[in-house]
Amino acid sequence: MNHDAAAPIRLVKGVGPQRARLLERLGIITVRDALSYLPFRYEDRSSPGKIASLAYDEVTTVTGKVVAAEVVTPNPRRRGLKIFELTVSDESGFLKAKWFNQQFLKKIFKPGQTVVLYGTVKRTYRGAGFEMLNPEYEFLDEEDAGDPGQIHTGRIVPVYRITEGLSQKQLRSIMHTVVQGAAASVADSVPAGIVRRLGLPGLQESLRNVHFPAPSLSLEDLNRGVSPYHQRLAFDELFTLQLGLAAIKKGEVREKGISFSPDGRLTGALRERLPFTLTGAQERVIRDILSDMRSPVPMSRLVQGDVGSGKTIVALIALLAAVESGYQAALMAPTEILAEQHYITMHHLVEELGMKVLLLTGSKRNRKGDVIASDGADIIIGTHALIQEGVVFEKLGLVVIDEQHRFGVLQRATLKKKGLNPDTLLMTATPIPRTMALTLYGDLDYSIIDELPPRRSPVITRHIPEKQKGCLYPLIEDEVKKGRQVYVVYPVIEESEKTTLKDALTGWEAFRMKFPHLTVGLIHGKMKTAEKEEVMHSFKEGRIGLLVSTTVIEVGVDVPNATLMIIIHAERFGLAQLHQLRGRVGRGSSQSHCILLSYGITEDARKRLEVMVMTNDGFRIAEEDLAIRGPGEMFGTRQSGIPDLRIANLIRDARLLEVARREAFSLIEEDSSLRDFPLLRKTLEDFWGKRIEMVKTA
Ligand code: ADP
Ligand code: MG
Repeated sequence: MNHDAAAPIRLVKGVGPQRARLLERLGIITVRDALSYLPFRYEDRSSPGKIASLAYDEVTTVTGKVVAAEVVTPNPRRRGLKIFELTVSDESGFLKAKWFNQQFLKKIFKPGQTVVLYGTVKRTYRGAGFEMLNPEYEFLDEEDAGDPGQIHTGRIVPVYRITEGLSQKQLRSIMHTVVQGAAASVADSVPAGIVRRLGLPGLQESLRNVHFPAPSLSLEDLNRGVSPYHQRLAFDELFTLQLGLAAIKKGEVREKGISFSPDGRLTGALRERLPFTLTGAQERVIRDILSDMRSPVPMSRLVQGDVGSGKTIVALIALLAAVESGYQAALMAPTEILAEQHYITMHHLVEELGMKVLLLTGSKRNRKGDVIASDGADIIIGTHALIQEGVVFEKLGLVVIDEQHRFGVLQRATLKKKGLNPDTLLMTATPIPRTMALTLYGDLDYSIIDELPPRRSPVITRHIPEKQKGCLYPLIEDEVKKGRQVYVVYPVIEESEKTTLKDALTGWEAFRMKFPHLTVGLIHGKMKTAEKEEVMHSFKEGRIGLLVSTTVIEVGVDVPNATLMIIIHAERFGLAQLHQLRGRVGRGSSQSHCILLSYGITEDARKRLEVMVMTNDGFRIAEEDLAIRGPGEMFGTRQSGIPDLRIANLIRDARLLEVARREAFSLIEEDSSLRDFPLLRKTLEDFWGKRIEMVKTA
C-alpha cells in the first residue's frame, strides 16, 4: 500500500488508533514524521554463525530448525518461575534459547520451523553447551513480513527508541511498512543543481537506507550517523534551517535603517576619562560596530566575550555613538540587578558628559502599566520590559541587549512590530561554539572579544567535598584580613520541606554568628528591588565584607575587590552557570579563588566540577557542556525561535552546516522569495512554521 507523506500514521497497515497513540508519544503523527524518525543505532545481524563455531559472550545471529519447545519449571521450590526453552539446531550443533515467564511463546514456536535468533551466546548452566537468554527472533517463513527474514535478522538491523507498550520489533515492522510504502512518494525539494553539485545521494534512496541499510554500508558509519544517506538527510535539515535565517536576514537588509554619523565628541571624552586603555580586541569590535552603525543597513550584531572581557565599555561606546548622532539609545539587561548595576556604573560617567540617563525597571514603574515617556533621556537603561510594554521612545536609534543569549530571532521581531527599526547589538558571555552561533544567530553578524584586559590572573578553582568544609572558615578569614570581599552562593533561598539543600537564609545566620566582626550581607530574588540595590551598592562600596546570595548575582555583577567565591552545593549547578558565577571573581588584578563545595555527587556532576577545576576558558567549558548536555538543552532553542533539529547534529555535522549555509544564503541572494522553487518554499514554511512570516510576505 502506498502512502502520501502527509497521511496520518494511523492509516498505515498494522498501526490503528491504539498504536497511533503510542507513536504520537514518539512525535510520530504523520508518515513523514515516521520517515524522519531515525534509528539511534544499528546492529549487524547479517552473517549467521555456525553453532559449532560459536564463542561465549559473542553477540551474534544463528539460523536453525526448532527441535524442541517447552515450558519448564527449573526450581521445584519456586513453582512461579517458568522458563520457555527452545532448542534449535543447524547441521553443526545445538543451541538453547531461554525466555523467563513468557509461556505464551509456546504457542508461537513449533518444531520444524526455521528461526533466526540474535543475542549473546552464553555457556549453559552446568555444561559446555551454548545458550542465549531472551534473544530477538524471527521466523524465516514469517508470512506477513513481506520479505521473509529481512526485517529483524539476517541484515543490518535498525534499532529505534521505543516507548512503553510498543516493542522494538513492532516499531521496526511499522517502519518497514512505512518505508516500503511511502519513501518513493516523497518529493525532493532541494534544487537539483545543489544536489548534483554536492554529489548528494537521492532523497528516496537515502530514506530507505537510513532505515533499512543496504548490506554494503559500513556499520560504523551508520552508527555514527555519517553514512552518505544520513548526511543527505542532515543536509536537508540544515539547509532548510539556514534558508530561513537567510530569508530573515535578507528581509532585514532590504529595510532601510539609520545611517549614524558619530563624530567622536562623546566617545572621545569618555575614553579620556577611563582609568585604562582598551584592549586590541575591544578596539576591533568597536570598529565593527561603528562601521555597521554608519551604514544604512540596520545593524544586527552579536558580540561575544567571555566573562570579564570588558563588554560593558564596548556597549557604552556604542550607546554614546548613537547619542552623538542625535538619537536615543537603550540598554536592556536580563535582570533588574544587572540593569541597576549598569546604571550605577554608567550614569556618573555619562552625566559628566552632559547627557541624561534614565533607569526604567518593572518596580519603578506604576502598576497600571501606563505608557511611559522616555522623558528627554539620551540613554535609557532597563529590563526587557523596556521593549515589551508601553514605553514610548522619542527617537530610538540603537538597542543594546546585554547578557541575553536567548534573545533570538523572535524577540527582535517585537521591536519591529512597534514600528521601530533601530540598530541592535547583542552582548553575550555564553561562549558559543561556531556551529551553534551559525544556527542560533545565523542571521546576525558576529564579533568576538577574544582577549582579557591585562594583569588578570586566572581564578584558581578547587573542588572540596563536604567532609573537608572545615577549611573554608580560615580561607574566608584570610581573604577578609587582606581587605578583600567574599561571595557565598547557595542554590535556594530558604529551608523547605521539599529539599534538604543548604539555603541562603540559614547560611547567612551561620556566617553572622561565626564572623561577628564582619558585615555579612544577604541578597536573593525575593527581595524588593530597592533592598537589592541597597545591598549591591554596599557591597560595591566595600561596606559589606561577605555577601551571601543566590544565583541572582549570576550574570554581569562587577565588584573587582571580591576575590573569593564559595559555591555551596556546586554539584547542583550546570557548567554554564558555574562559569558565569565564577566570573564574578577574578575581575581585578589580585589573585582570586573559587571553591566548589559538593554534598554527594553523581558521575555527571563530578565531570562538570573537574572541567571547572581544569580550565577558565569559556570556550572549552561550552564545548564540554555541549558534549554533556546536548545543544537543545544548552541553548533553550525553543525560546530562541529556532526549530528543533531531529536529524542533524551540530557538533558532528559542523562541516555540513557550513556547506548548507553557503548554499542557502546564495540561493536566497538569487531568489529571495523562492519563486522558482515552490516545493522548497513549502518545506521552508512547514519547518519554520509561523516563525518566518517574513518569507511569506517577501
Ligand atoms: P563583562 O565582559 O563580563 O561584562 P565588564 O565589562 O563588566 O566585563 O568588565 C570587567 C571589568 O574589567 C570591569 O571592572 C571593567 O572596568 C574592567 N575593564 C574593562 N575593559 C578593561 C581594559 N581594557 N583594561 C582594564 N580593565 C578593563
Ligand atoms: Mg557584562
